[in-house]
Amino acid sequence: MAVYVPLTIEAQLECRMIMMSSYNLFSPANGRPLVGPTQDMVMGIYYLTQEKKKERNEGRLFSSIDEAICAHQHGLVSLNTRVQVNGVTKCTEHEKADENDPRPEYTTVGRILFLSAIDDGLIHSVEFKKKELLPTNRILIPNKALGKRDLIGIVEQIFQKKGLYYTVTLLDQLKQLGYHYATVSGLTISVDDMVVPRDKKAIIDRAHKRVEAIEEQAKKGVITESERYNSIVDVWSETTESITQDMVKEMRKQEQEDANPTKPRFNSVHLMAFSGARGNMDQVRQLAAMRGLMSRPQKKIRGQMGEIIETPVISNFREGLSILEYYISTHGGRKGLADTALKTADAGYLTRRLVDVAHHVVVSEEDCGTIKGIKVSALKVGDEVIESLAERIFGRVVLNDVVVDAVDEKTGEIHPHVIVRNGEMITREQAERIAEAGIESLRIRSVLTCESKTGICAKCYGIDLSRNALVRVGEAVGVIAAQSIGEPGTQLTLRTFHIGGAAARVLKQPRITVPFDGVVEQINCKVVRKKEGDKEIQVVITNNAVVRLVNEQTRQRQSWELPFGSRLHVASDAKVCKGDLIAEWDVYSIPVVAERTGRIRFQDMVEGKTLITERHKAAGGSIERRVIPFKGKFNPRLNIVNEKGKIISTYSLPVDAVVLVEDDEQIHGGDTIAKIPREEIRTKDVTGGLPRVEELFEARHPKNAAVISEIDGKVKIATVERNDKEGKVVSIDTVITIYNEKSGKEKTYTLPAGRHLLVYEGDRVESGEPLTDGVIDAHKYLEVRGPQHTQEFLLNEVQQVYRLQGVMVNDKH
Ligand SMILES: [Zn+2]
Repeated sequence: MAVYVPLTIEAQLECRMIMMSSYNLFSPANGRPLVGPTQDMVMGIYYLTQEKKKERNEGRLFSSIDEAICAHQHGLVSLNTRVQVNGVTKCTEHEKADENDPRPEYTTVGRILFLSAIDDGLIHSVEFKKKELLPTNRILIPNKALGKRDLIGIVEQIFQKKGLYYTVTLLDQLKQLGYHYATVSGLTISVDDMVVPRDKKAIIDRAHKRVEAIEEQAKKGVITESERYNSIVDVWSETTESITQDMVKEMRKQEQEDANPTKPRFNSVHLMAFSGARGNMDQVRQLAAMRGLMSRPQKKIRGQMGEIIETPVISNFREGLSILEYYISTHGGRKGLADTALKTADAGYLTRRLVDVAHHVVVSEEDCGTIKGIKVSALKVGDEVIESLAERIFGRVVLNDVVVDAVDEKTGEIHPHVIVRNGEMITREQAERIAEAGIESLRIRSVLTCESKTGICAKCYGIDLSRNALVRVGEAVGVIAAQSIGEPGTQLTLRTFHIGGAAARVLKQPRITVPFDGVVEQINCKVVRKKEGDKEIQVVITNNAVVRLVNEQTRQRQSWELPFGSRLHVASDAKVCKGDLIAEWDVYSIPVVAERTGRIRFQDMVEGKTLITERHKAAGGSIERRVIPFKGKFNPRLNIVNEKGKIISTYSLPVDAVVLVEDDEQIHGGDTIAKIPREEIRTKDVTGGLPRVEELFEARHPKNAAVISEIDGKVKIATVERNDKEGKVVSIDTVITIYNEKSGKEKTYTLPAGRHLLVYEGDRVESGEPLTDGVIDAHKYLEVRGPQHTQEFLLNEVQQVYRLQGVMVNDKH
């Protein structure tokens, strides 16, 4: 690596005036503080501001800060004792009856010390108070034990309200204070601090029973192999989670116990992890609760699965691992090391390429005077907000006046109120007010639409996140952007190492229950009715079905998207009460649902060619019929025929589909006749994210690209035989036709059989929507939707990868 040695006076000046750490407190990538207390300093301050019940002289009343500190110095009250101090806390004599009440009128001696230590020069401008009551120039310090996040929040506030000089002074004071009290605390680590939860054995036994039941079901053929695997993995993730919660509870109990001079005051491991000083819950979990599921270094032993080893490590490091567990662990540990070694180089190379293409982008003028811009709204994946509108518009210049309805307090009239004027930059407060006012999208200036002849203009770029002010002319924003995107790549690859290969899965509830009383509306719901016992349920057979719950009185509304094959339990316009079940679906697979009643007729289902029958050892010898990758003149299908033998509906089966019916079996409308495993959706980790980012930036054609629709319209699906010159059938393809009634346009897509379709007969699709699984090819998207939508698409795709890992990078980069 090159080393910069400032030799000349000018170079030294540059170092002192521009590069010095005290001038670079905020990340240019996202505007968050880069400098803040860490490790021992955090631990010291957390210890200082923590409280302990029933210490000597608890609840004492002091007339001033000085008196309280004096009492502490004479040994009358300890650091963690609850006291009342005039002027700092509102002094009331009577205690509240409720033990769980935080009693904000109380504070501790430690917090008073913290306050007076950082208050130097800011005397009487710092307060413990609720946010709403705070005058704008005051600094809010929460009346609680202060962890790393709280401290960084304080640093941010001080910078915004008091400027750079105070911030730097404050940071120095925090350092002093933190180290001092870390020493005073005498905290140490002992094996007793790792509390193994008492109920661990019972929880594990329960999990073993559940796993046995799942194995039993698999043996009987009630569930498929992939469902078995997924359910077991879910059982163990849930178990790990609940043991961890128990462990945290027991560790916290030590903290909340009454003071006892013979016992340690706090649990050091808990204090360390919770303050943010070192380690996190994942690591403490491995020390004292259960190591949990490990990831499998070899990918895809069978199809899409094999990412997680289904046998968990039940022991923790305190108990010690058994030999088998040790081997499972080392497996994951090795993966961590190999990933770190290999992927850091990849991330570094990505940064280099990004700098190479963007380094000439420099802010060249104040304002290019363009009237163009982009429209932004919150970035959502499904129902989840990945990046809020407030985050996206902060620090950007608006193209139109932003107007909201404001209520006049005196007259009660509603009149328009301008929050931001055309051409002004949105501050953080304004961004929040815009979001609160319910504005969903906004037009802002963007570097993508800047009309500057060379480089870009300051107004189109907006805020310089490292200085919290409009960017200055001459700033090399291209390099900043490249490094903002490249830097987290290095960080992310290192994270897998810290967790040591322990796998984590996100569990999503596969059901919707009513959150408030109301009336249900079904939108786009094409359903098949099915009798189940004495109840009639509806099975959704469209892809974009939505249910909406409306309460006219309270004006509450909420809507949910339903996945294909969901089972709806309520009819349209039905009245429901809180807690009722609206719909449920299978998390592990996408069902193929029969729309009509009739007999099953197999077609192109040739054992060994398109289909294999497997006996699963793990599931105790259950038999499963599964479609395998095939070539040539096949298109495995399940047909439904009526009494006369006429085919009334047909279902092409993609590769990996598991057949649940027999040839010539009688079935009813709404029955599930096959299942497609839904696995790939949940295995999005870093190592998968970074290559996707590279793929997007390099505009490569992805290997498993999805076929996307070029027009809006309705879907028709058919199969076509393809012949060679002699008229022999070479292959049977699936043909998707998109037909638009208004324009009369029609587009057909011929796909090889076995592709997994995302649309169904009769679905409505929009142009640019994927018809099959796979990732979207940016080239194809550009052809269909044009440059502006493609820019937006690229931005959203990249943001998704980073946000899923909890990494914040501003949109402008
Ligand atoms: Zn511009």
